[in-house]
Parts: sequence; C-alpha cells; structure tokens
Amino acid sequence: MQRRCDRNRKRSKRRAIYCPIHSCYLDSVSQKYPIFADQPGQLQQRGISRRNALMLVASQTAVLIEGEWLEAFWCDKCQQTKWYHVQKFGDRTYKLSLAPQELWQQVTGVIHPHGNPSVGEFTRRQSRVMSYNSIKDFEFVS
Ligand SMILES: [Zn+2]
Repeated sequence: MQRRCDRNRKRSKRRAIYCPIHSCYLDSVSQKYPIFADQPGQLQQRGISRRNALMLVASQTAVLIEGEWLEAFWCDKCQQTKWYHVQKFGDRTYKLSLAPQELWQQVTGVIHPHGNPSVGEFTRRQSRVMSYNSIKDFEFVS
C-alpha cells in the first residue's frame, strides 16, 4: 500500500486544499492571515475599477481583500511547511500559489519566514488598519 497523504482521519471537515506539486491534501499549520490593499493597483488587479480603487484607498487607507489570505500548510510529501497565498473561488474551490514576497507587505501580524519586513513597517500598518471596510461593503456605494 502507498502511504497516504492524510495522516489524521478528520476527512469530513477538510477543505479541498491540495499541494500544487503533489495534489495531496495539505494540513493547515497556521491561522488565516488576511490581506489588505493600500494601493489602488492592488485593487485594480482584482477587478475594481480605477476610480473606485482610488476612492477606496483614499477613504480607508487599508482595504480588506476578501477571499484571499496567507496560510501555512504542511505537505507530507514535500516534508516541509510552506506559506501559500490562498484564493477562494466559490464554495469549495481554492487556488494556491507560493506566497510572493510583496504579498507579505500586505499582511498584518505575520512574521515573515525570512524575517523581512521591519517591525516598524508592521506597527505602522497595524495602526492604519483600525478602520477598514471590505470591498464588498463599499462596492455599491455610489
Ligand atoms: Zn507536496
């Protein structure tokens, strides 16, 4: 018998998140870290119009990006923990990509695995994130 990827038996509750290399289930080993946008370009990449993106950033400084987060997963076959940028599409569809460097700057409260962003940077962001609204809440305000 082949060794199975899923060691524990909590199958029912498992999210359909697989290792992009091995296509086996991944074990989550962290909480979800929300991603915030503080530049119009980051919102435009996600389908917000330039005008709305400018308005959002101007009014909120940090905008929660819904359906995306950073999370660390352990893969049995990789035999290591990796940080992924997770995007959720619909109910049970997830897309994983290795978290790119610049994304860490859009996350609050995460210790970068390579110790990169400075503490000062995080503190500054933490204080700016105090009043954010989600894109969804804002979208239909004219
Ligand atoms: Zn793997």
